[in-house]
Amino acid sequence: MNTSKVVIISTGGTIAMRYDPVRKGIFPAVTGQELVEAIPPLVEVCPIEVYEFSNIPSPHMTPELMLKLAQKVEEILGGEDIRGVVITHGTDTLEETAYFLSLILKSNKPVCLTAAMRSSAEISPDGPKNILDAVRAAAAPEASGKGVMVVMNQEIHSARDVTKTHTASTDTFKSPFWGPIGYVDEDRVLFQREVRKLDKIITDRIVEDVYLVKLAAGSDDFLIQALVDKGVKGIVVEGLGRGNIPPAVIPGIKRAIYKNIPVVLATRVPMGRVLDIYGYEGGAKPLKEMGVIFAGELSGQKARIKLMLALTKTNDPQQIAKYFN
Ligand code: ASP
Repeated sequence: MNTSKVVIISTGGTIAMRYDPVRKGIFPAVTGQELVEAIPPLVEVCPIEVYEFSNIPSPHMTPELMLKLAQKVEEILGGEDIRGVVITHGTDTLEETAYFLSLILKSNKPVCLTAAMRSSAEISPDGPKNILDAVRAAAAPEASGKGVMVVMNQEIHSARDVTKTHTASTDTFKSPFWGPIGYVDEDRVLFQREVRKLDKIITDRIVEDVYLVKLAAGSDDFLIQALVDKGVKGIVVEGLGRGNIPPAVIPGIKRAIYKNIPVVLATRVPMGRVLDIYGYEGGAKPLKEMGVIFAGELSGQKARIKLMLALTKTNDPQQIAKYFN
């Protein structure tokens, strides 16, 4: 058995919730310590310590809280007797917190986020098994250097690739483009592939005034113009297909760029990259020539997180573009 510890940081989410018959809904109710006490086999994996960071539903998670969480994780990972960290989190924004941590954390030690789709009082809750698997993954010697991971339903996913794909299924976290990096099979942790090293953005602050705008057939530039009027610090546009947009959105984007507001273009398609192959009006090629920054294969919500961190280093759209290359 490993003698170095895994610290479980609880932040909230369904995993720490219960149905309240009086209010007739699911509410935060369970502490991190209670979560861990309900999983007796944990003691066979390695010594465990629990730190209660918060008990919030993850739609209440903010980039500011993510930054505080990152600082706590870094502090904990600095301990010589610490092997890794497991973070329990709500599923709704889990992929954003995981990606945020993967960009900002300096430590090479493993960090595994996990969650539950069924609250603790439901029949067959998935939380205890997910926590056990996440601790197994974080304690595995091969996990070192794999960065921030998401462990759910026995699968291990890289923070960069993972996304929530189903509103209710326990098999909701997937990496649609690249697949999982590993699997927890009882007490064995199997890693199947290496994770490409992410460029870090080491910073002690965030720039919050960054917005995500999703486009659809017939969209116009109303929202983007409003954001430019507000003087926001950055805009992520979730465009169509290869990174194309309806022509009526172009004037807003042109004005944002003229005002030196970085505009990052992602796609609403779950797999594949944004690329400048279409030259028609609204195609990604003229958008690039205009100065729009491509998000590559990052989803809109992850591109927003990256832009919030990159903006702490520079306001210059050309420099910002380097973070997305
Ligand atoms: N709404 C919940 C949350 O994200 C769902 C969950 O935890 O899975 O906190």
